[in-house]
This record gives sequence, C-alpha cells and structure tokens, in this order.
Amino acid sequence: MTKARRLDGQVVANAMREEIRPAAQAFTAAHGRRPGLGIVLVGDDPASHVYVKHKLKAAEEWGFHADCARIAETATLDEVLAAVDRLNRSAIHDGILVQAPLPKTMGKGATQRVFDAIAVEKDVDGFAAENVGLLSQNRATLVACTPAGVIEMLQREGITIAGQRAVVLGRSDIVGKPMALLLLHRDATITICHSRTPDLAATCRQADILVAAIGKPGFVTAEYIKPGATVVDVGINQVTDPNVAASLYPAGHIRLANFASRGTMLVGDVHPSVEEVAGAMTPVPGGVGPLTITMLMKNTLLAAQAHQSRAA
Ligand code: NAP
Repeated sequence: MTKARRLDGQVVANAMREEIRPAAQAFTAAHGRRPGLGIVLVGDDPASHVYVKHKLKAAEEWGFHADCARIAETATLDEVLAAVDRLNRSAIHDGILVQAPLPKTMGKGATQRVFDAIAVEKDVDGFAAENVGLLSQNRATLVACTPAGVIEMLQREGITIAGQRAVVLGRSDIVGKPMALLLLHRDATITICHSRTPDLAATCRQADILVAAIGKPGFVTAEYIKPGATVVDVGINQVTDPNVAASLYPAGHIRLANFASRGTMLVGDVHPSVEEVAGAMTPVPGGVGPLTITMLMKNTLLAAQAHQSRAA
C-alpha cells in the first residue's frame, strides 16, 4: 500500500517567505520604516511566551518591526484595553496581535472584548467581530492565520477544493469556523463536526478533504478516512504520557526513541497510521504550524500597505 503524500508546511512557508521578505523590503524602502507588528502578551502562560518569542523572531528575520507589550498576570482588563488602544493610535504599528488565552481571572468574554477593541484594519489575527463578519461575506482581507495557512497549503500543493466534500472537525472561532468558511468560499461542500456530532467517523469518512482541529492526540484514526482523502492536521498536542506515546507509534519508531530521551513530544489530532489510508496528509510537527506565522507576516504586510495607502 502506498503512503499518503506528505504536505510539508515548512516547504510552503519557505516559498512564501521568499515572496514576503522582498515585499517587506520594498515597503521599507518606499516608506522609510518597516511594516510594524505590535504584540500584547498578558500573564505567565509558558506556551504563550514561546509562541510570542517565535513571532518576534520571525518578524525580525523577515524584515518587519515587531515589539511586545508584556502585561502582568494580575493586570485588569482595562489595562489590556489601554495597551490595545495605544497600538491602535500608533503610526508605526500596522498590525496588532493579542496573544490568547488571557488569564482566566479577567472573566468570561474578556478575550473577545479585547479582540473587538483592535482597530479592524490592524486586526492581523482576524478575530475581531467585524473581520469575522466580513469573512462570512467573503469580503475579508485579514483572515485568521491558521485556516488561511491551510488554504495556502492546499492551493500551492495542487489539492482541488472546488466541488469537493470537506469536513471540518472542530468549531472554534479561531480555527474550525473560519476554516469552514474559507473552504465554502472556494466552492467545497462543508460539514462542521463537534463534540455533539453523532457517528463522527462515518461523517468524516465522507470527506475528500478532512481538517482536524480538536486538540486530542491521535483522535482521528484510519476508520475516519475515505481512502485517498486529503487530511489536514491542525492539532498541536504535547504528549508526556508514555502510554499515549506508545498508542501512536509502533515499537522501535524513531519518535518513541526521541520521546524516551526527552519525556515529551508534539503530536497532532490525527493518528500517524492514517498515512496508510489518506492520499495526502500534513505531518505534526512541520505541517500547518509553520504556516500560521507565515500568514501573520503576510497579514501584517497587507495591513501596512493598506495603512500607507490611507495615509497617502
Ligand atoms: P478549541 O477551541 O478547544 O476547540 C476544539 C473543538 O473541537 C471544539 O469545537 C470541540 O467541540 C471539538 N471537539 C473536542 N473534542 C471533540 C471530540 N471528542 N469529538 C468531536 N469534536 C470535539 O480548540 P482550537 O483552538 O480550535 O484548537 C484545536 C487544535 O488546534 C489544538 O490542538 C490547538 O493547539 C491547535 N491549533 C494549532 C494551530 C497551529 O498553528 N497549527 C493554531 C491554533 C490551534 P465543542 O465545540 O462541541 O466543544
């Protein structure tokens, strides 16, 4: 049996970087400043600190200006909103990103309030209600980075979307829903599944394109897959339990050897054995992940170009 074609996100991200970096340089030459990204990081969540570090590093390497306002875990929602307001009024910040999640102590609804406070033209994560509305009408320019990255990958890898049956597993505001809308706007026929969907495997098995975004290691097994389907694994799960690791890879696999020495590994929502059934599949790591930061840079460049056009 042939194994699924590997959809390598790093290769796609590298190709996009070679397009975006010269465009950022041209912007800098034309306007005497680099396209600018302002990040707001609230609290002590270790994963958030790692994500922000990667975003700042990528921005520097790709010829962007980026800085980060770090706000204490104990801060009030008003302090976060004030930081967003400063970035909204800044002439050198074209894009704004507030790293989620916010501390739970800020209360339910705080994250969306902060997203909605970001000026719509600077909302490079595409999470503000107005940008989500524009997306639903297929009019958005700033679209949530992870689902937009999935579309870039599918298109650049020559995967047909129009006329295909696509199933999106997960209905979050940041991945599942925008993913479904983007596929719909490219003429796929969409089903969105979630934790209350009955007979999940049978529904997923109808998919020509299956996108998994649920946050459960190795949840999607071969019985969920129509033979030859394209499988996109958005999940990023840190596994530390040896039993879970052993359920994902056969004895002797290199990833188990690495797990034994490190005590941790990153895996997706799709079981690795799915590669025996799928036609094409993204790996984790190295699939969708690298495209998220790439799309953030692309959105920041788009926001910067629009910012300068308004100022002209
Ligand atoms: P989320 O907000 O927790 O949403 C998870 C979704 O999965 C929910 O809609 C939930 O259904 C559904 N779900 C959970 N368990 C399920 C089950 N057993 N059967 C069916 N549906 C189930 O997660 P998210 O923010 O969308 O992220 C999903 C995954 O993507 C995570 O692993 C996250 O780390 C990863 N991620 C990766 C990137 C990247 O750059 N690659 C970016 C963002 C997120 P209900 O709505 O019914 O609860």
